[in-house]
Amino acid sequence: MLDGARKVLQQVYGYPEFREGQKNIITHLLEGKDTLGIMPTGGGKSICYQVPAMLMEGVTLVISPLISLMKDQVDALGVLGVPATFINSTLEAREVEQRMQGAMQGKYKLLYIAPERLESERFRARMAALNLPFVAIDEAHCVSQWGHDFRPSYVSIAPFIRELPNRPIVAAFTATATAEVTADIARLLELDQAGIFVNGFSRDNLELTILRGENKRDYIHNYVKEHTHQPGIIYAATRKDVEELYESLRKKGYAAGKYHAGLTDDERSYMQEAFLYDDIRVMIATNAFGMGIDKSNVRYVIHYNMPKNMEAYYQEAGRAGRDGEPSECILLFSAQDIMTQKFLIEQNQLSPERKANEYKKLQTMIDYCYSPRCLRNVILHYFDETNIKDTCGNCSSCKDDRDTVDITVEAQKIFSCIRRMNERFGISMVASVLKGSKAKKIVEYRFDRLPTHGIMRDLPEKEISDLINVLISEGFLQLSEGQYPVVRLMQPAAEVLQGKLPVFQKVRKQQVKAAAVDN
Ligand code: ADP
Ligand code: ZN
Repeated sequence: MLDGARKVLQQVYGYPEFREGQKNIITHLLEGKDTLGIMPTGGGKSICYQVPAMLMEGVTLVISPLISLMKDQVDALGVLGVPATFINSTLEAREVEQRMQGAMQGKYKLLYIAPERLESERFRARMAALNLPFVAIDEAHCVSQWGHDFRPSYVSIAPFIRELPNRPIVAAFTATATAEVTADIARLLELDQAGIFVNGFSRDNLELTILRGENKRDYIHNYVKEHTHQPGIIYAATRKDVEELYESLRKKGYAAGKYHAGLTDDERSYMQEAFLYDDIRVMIATNAFGMGIDKSNVRYVIHYNMPKNMEAYYQEAGRAGRDGEPSECILLFSAQDIMTQKFLIEQNQLSPERKANEYKKLQTMIDYCYSPRCLRNVILHYFDETNIKDTCGNCSSCKDDRDTVDITVEAQKIFSCIRRMNERFGISMVASVLKGSKAKKIVEYRFDRLPTHGIMRDLPEKEISDLINVLISEGFLQLSEGQYPVVRLMQPAAEVLQGKLPVFQKVRKQQVKAAAVDN
């Protein structure tokens, strides 16, 4: 079955072999069965429906919300010698009519449309008159209210297919793999016992890095300076951050652009074009930038803030290295990002059920940021990828040869002590109380009667201070400004105290050994 398909792949595209995931999907489709393909951007989805389309009689309908990409796709197919066209709102009525006529005459193998088109009764009647063996639906998560991008027009897809005289084979594709969304897609698109394939999440050319406790602004400046000639994207959580970063990079003379929903349509399309043509090297953007950006040579994606969940993260990070060349994905994490994301969840008016779901997904994202495990494997497990190999050897966890120790209990002791001292003292005073000092000032304040007095007496006071500093750099604690800075608890510290958030520290191997000998 796959031999014919392979021949098409070689003759039309010039590729010697399908990727593992493509094989499964194409075989399934050619057996005449509905398919739900879960693939990240750049996973090789287009070939999964284009090749079967070429092997079937009649025209294949491709439904996609990405109007800006349709022309590119159709042009690319034209170059390969595959007759294809698109119909969308950018065309004049006469042009639409011409293309419809062409479709009726069997001129095209693939016809791309936006879902809104299905709302036209005339269009549906025309489709019913065609030989339409196969319908491919891109960005299929848009049908689900659970997804991050619900589009009402996707709801018309199922009735449209139901009313066709001959039920075509249906293939739906998405990069969103959560159980709720997957189930929703299969149900709402009325897929018939669909095979579900999760594939292509392993992007071996991406080097995943998480950095905690960096001065983010300095880091970005240095990074951009060292990569001035490479295209890259920096995602920030808010428009304000985008504007600030953009201004500061422009001031230093870098070819920076910006993109967020607060810009006019003209500004946005200008920025997008300039980035595509390399007039802008580094794009500073909110998550509004991306869907439909098909730039293959993006060499790095830096997240200035932690995104709201793993789907969003991997979709954005996955915009790096679509050409298969080595590329970097760097996430700059600070505990403050947790607060920002929680604030954003609270701002949305969500049902209690949805809200709980958002919090759950946020927690998984936080756990990823603290994970000492191979980052690629964490991601692949999260997305239920079928083929998981060994650790990648190329992520910040794999490359970090230090040992990770769980310091949750120590952190809890420190936070609890700071809280009992009413968050009004500096690092050394907190460390002395934890050490169990009977210094005059401590006795005066009656801190020697606190239950946390002396609970870390086994450690040298210097080490207690160091730990407090680590917790500050990780964003659990904050130092007030001024001459006598006091240590205060940040939101994540409360979560640690409630046992909801673990705390890890990397230490050099020798240090761990020394600690072990002490015990
Ligand atoms: P998606 O539509 O999933 O974002 P594409 O279909 O555009 O991804 O594929 C991403 C890139 O991988 C493209 O450059 C494509 O030509 C390439 N590609 C896809 N399948 C193969 C294959 N079997 N062999 C080699 N390259 C492939
Ligand atoms: Zn790894």
